[in-house]
Amino acid sequence: MPGLTETLRERARSHPDRVAYIAGDTQLTFRDFDRRADRAAAALAAAGVGRGDRVAVLDKNSLEYAEQLFGAGRVGAVQVPVNYRLAPDEVAYIVNDAKAKVFIVGPEFLPVLDAIAGRLEHTAHLVVVNGVDHPYEDYATWVEGASGEPPAYEPEPSDVFVQLYSSGTTGLPKGVMLTHANYLAALGVSTDVWDLDESSVLMVAMPMYHVAGNVLALNVVYNGITGVIAREPDPGLIARGIERHRVTHIFLVPVLLQFMPLIPEVTACDLSSLKLVLYGASPISEDVLRGAMELLPTTEFMQVYGLTEVTGAITMLPAADHVLNGPNAHRLRSAGLPNGSCELRIVDPATQEDLPLGEVGEILCRTPQNMKGYWGNPGATAAALSDDNWFRTGDAGYLDEDGYLYIHDRVKDMIISGGENIYPAEVENVLMSHPDVTDCAVIGVPDAKWGEVPKAIVVLSADVPEKDVIEFCRARLAHFKCPASVERRDAVPRNPTGKILKRQLREPYWKDQDR
Ligand code: ATP
Ligand code: MG
Repeated sequence: MPGLTETLRERARSHPDRVAYIAGDTQLTFRDFDRRADRAAAALAAAGVGRGDRVAVLDKNSLEYAEQLFGAGRVGAVQVPVNYRLAPDEVAYIVNDAKAKVFIVGPEFLPVLDAIAGRLEHTAHLVVVNGVDHPYEDYATWVEGASGEPPAYEPEPSDVFVQLYSSGTTGLPKGVMLTHANYLAALGVSTDVWDLDESSVLMVAMPMYHVAGNVLALNVVYNGITGVIAREPDPGLIARGIERHRVTHIFLVPVLLQFMPLIPEVTACDLSSLKLVLYGASPISEDVLRGAMELLPTTEFMQVYGLTEVTGAITMLPAADHVLNGPNAHRLRSAGLPNGSCELRIVDPATQEDLPLGEVGEILCRTPQNMKGYWGNPGATAAALSDDNWFRTGDAGYLDEDGYLYIHDRVKDMIISGGENIYPAEVENVLMSHPDVTDCAVIGVPDAKWGEVPKAIVVLSADVPEKDVIEFCRARLAHFKCPASVERRDAVPRNPTGKILKRQLREPYWKDQDR
């Protein structure tokens, strides 16, 4: 099985003149991109980077990011994309944790590099892309200066290709080692299911440090199609890019689908070229989904569910199940069916015993997409991955008799009130159907009688008294699931991929409790 770097070589041979990536006003054919990947590989080799070495990248989406992926692959090295929204200390933590030999930084992040350069213990080369006035190496000079052929390297399927750090939503980010075999399995699903052909234009709208952006960027080469790289997930930039390049396929997170229909700059664009919107990475309320389907009436929608540790998506809700009415309309709340050869189990999180069909428990999966492990953390790897390759997702959910998976939040976010389990996403879904609620989050807060009770944090577009919001929920939910209190705020804190920062919201209420 050839690795992805060989796939690029093959694309450059079979259709050299097709456009591979577009970024801003630059377009690169597969032939040009293949050459640039070789040049990147030569520069890395000249810097002493070889098999198993780590190359960290801190940048918004760019062509350099993509060519570095393949350049690193061609010398057997591993790209470590770093979340650019992290604080300097957190960036330093990741670059040091990965023991990166080279650190490539985009121009916006020079101040971050200045702050941490003296603390990077293993990094011999600090390289800045498109920067001016800095003491570091200049990316263009660095790659152009490298002469000679890169060493011919044939990756083994089990070689690590990319080390992504998980989002850090529930704790310190961990280095997730993903192999060539993991990516080939993940990418293999797309060709048929997404109905891609040579006229497809895919937009890489999510950050390339996140598994969604990373897999999409690689999809361009895997399928030999054109990819438009959006520098950042800005709704206006995305909409203008769709219109300009007649984008056919895109992955968006729910928070973008939530706000895009409300932005005049977005609704003024012609988005009719979109054939398929994939969405996932956090729960979506039915209202948000309906709003997006109304914004894009001729576009098909597919939900995906997955994690960094499983190379992105492992289940998919097909377009055909996106029906607003009729006997199967409940499927709109499902994350769909397992992809390819993925197997799912639902177990009791405490005992890891299988639960009967329909009962909510922890979701386990076994798929060729399961990561190799957490970098330098055998304890965490053993806790997450069993000897026979079952991965504990930490998410709660159930399977119905047709094999559809329904996600009920993370096991850790579940609220236990008087012995009853409450999944915040279910309450959030109801709150989002209130006409004046534009965003919300539900958390558990301590309660003397019930142990904990749900509390709603809401963003409102009109003045609505707390008791009215609670009444609204009472009419639609079992009493114990209804928020005991409602707090109005200007915004719900989220990470860049739209995940609500529940840990941060919960903290002030629990800091004096022993939990
Ligand atoms: P960390 O593991 O570092 O705390 P994280 O779990 O947020 O961070 P990711 O791997 O980016 O990092 O996200 C995976 C999680 O996203 C899943 O465990 C799940 O909770 C959530 N998720 C992904 N897809 C969906 C979906 N379709 N519906 C609901 N939740 C989803
Ligand atoms: Mg996680």
